[in-house]
Amino acid sequence: FFITFEGPDGSGKTTQIHRLAEELERCSLPYLLTREPGGTEIGDKIRTIILNPDHPELAEKTEILLYAASRSQHVIEKIVPAVNSGKIVLCDRFVDASIAYQGYGLGQSIDLVKMINEFATGGISPDRTYLIDVSPETGRNRMKKRSGAPETGVTKSADDLDRIEMRALTYHKRVREGFLSIYEENKSRIRLIDGEKNHDQVFQEIIADFSQFISR
Ligand code: C5P
Ligand code: MG
Repeated sequence: FFITFEGPDGSGKTTQIHRLAEELERCSLPYLLTREPGGTEIGDKIRTIILNPDHPELAEKTEILLYAASRSQHVIEKIVPAVNSGKIVLCDRFVDASIAYQGYGLGQSIDLVKMINEFATGGISPDRTYLIDVSPETGRNRMKKRSGAPETGVTKSADDLDRIEMRALTYHKRVREGFLSIYEENKSRIRLIDGEKNHDQVFQEIIADFSQFISR
């Protein structure tokens, strides 16, 4: 199975994906926990380029291609081999994030972002996606409370936000609306979870659906 977690920054998806991984560990189910951008050595290098706040000149087209480049390496090197060997792959963000952030957020062509990612992934798509929805205001407050910089190793902004997180609230509103539109178009794959609830409640909803999903 290929499972992805999506949602705006500060939605709590990273906390939730780690909890699900702990649960799989407890049940001795083989899994791969990974994330984007990154997930491979090459991908992690691309991640630092994308998220570095010192490069505000990075062009939107370049941004789209860098996410896609990280993703193609990730699919070929990690995701496909893991799925083929019977592992449950838990991936923190995937193509939906590019449609939401680079498509809806930046206002780039949705069809073009889809096409580029079709090429990058060879057309593989998650079996199940947990979309954790929060308002941009909640997201921003949680990001600011987050301890330390968001693992880019290069973040130097005053309140420890990466280059994308630093963008205006209006950008993050478009991203959120984008995620909700993607949900409307993919209701059989995506489970929409209310991320305003506390972490335990959110996890209960995820684990209930997940147990049912893998045993069907
Ligand atoms: O998932 P995480 O928050 O660690 O992602 C790192 C950053 O990359 C975030 O600021 C996220 O908004 C951004 N991102 C993006 N487009 C993607 C994937 C992630 O702008 N396709
Ligand atoms: Mg983030």
